[in-house]
Amino acid sequence: MNFTGLSEKTLILIKPDAIQRALVGEIINRFERKGLKIVGLKMMRLDEAVLREHYAHIAGKPFYPGVERFMMSSPVVAICLEGLEVVAAVRQITGITKARVAEAGSIRGDLAMSVACNVIHASDTVENAMLEVPRFFSEDELYDYSRTDYLHVYTEDERE
Ligand code: ADP
Repeated sequence: MNFTGLSEKTLILIKPDAIQRALVGEIINRFERKGLKIVGLKMMRLDEAVLREHYAHIAGKPFYPGVERFMMSSPVVAICLEGLEVVAAVRQITGITKARVAEAGSIRGDLAMSVACNVIHASDTVENAMLEVPRFFSEDELYDYSRTDYLHVYTEDERE
C-alpha cells in the first residue's frame, strides 16, 4: 500500500451512534465535497480483538469497557480515503474528541455532543494510518482508479 503524495491514505470508521442516527450519507457527503477520494468502503462488525488492537492507547483506561461495548453495539462503516496530506485534512474536518466543544463546521462539532459517541474515528498520524488501513482493509478491498475532477481539485504541481 502506497501512502505517499496523492496516494496518502487514512482510515475512517463511522461509529454506531452515526449508524443509529442515520448520518452515514451526511458524513460521506462531507468527505466527497472536500475533494477526497474513496478507495475503500464497507460495513463490518468489530470484535474485542480488533478493538483492543485499534484502541491499544486507551485499553487501560477506566472508560475503555464502555467504548468497546459502544463500538460493538452495531456494525460500523469503514472507509479508506486518499488525497494529498489526507490524514491532517481529515483530522481537521473531524474536530476534537469531545464533540460538544468541537469546532463549529467540523463533523463532530456539527453532528455530535458526546465524548464517546463522537460519530467517526479518523487516523491521527500518517504512521498510525499505515497501521490502521491494513487493519481494516486487505489489498484487494482498496481500489486504484482515476478521478477526472482531480484536474480541478489539485493544481498540476500538486498532482505530480
Ligand atoms: P480521537 O478519536 O479523537 O483520536 P482518542 O484516540 O483519545 O480520541 O480516543 C479514542 C476514542 O475513545 C474517542 O474517539 C472516544 O470515542 C473514546 N474516548 C476517549 N476519551 C474518552 C473518555 N474520557 N470517556 C469516554 N470515551 C472516551
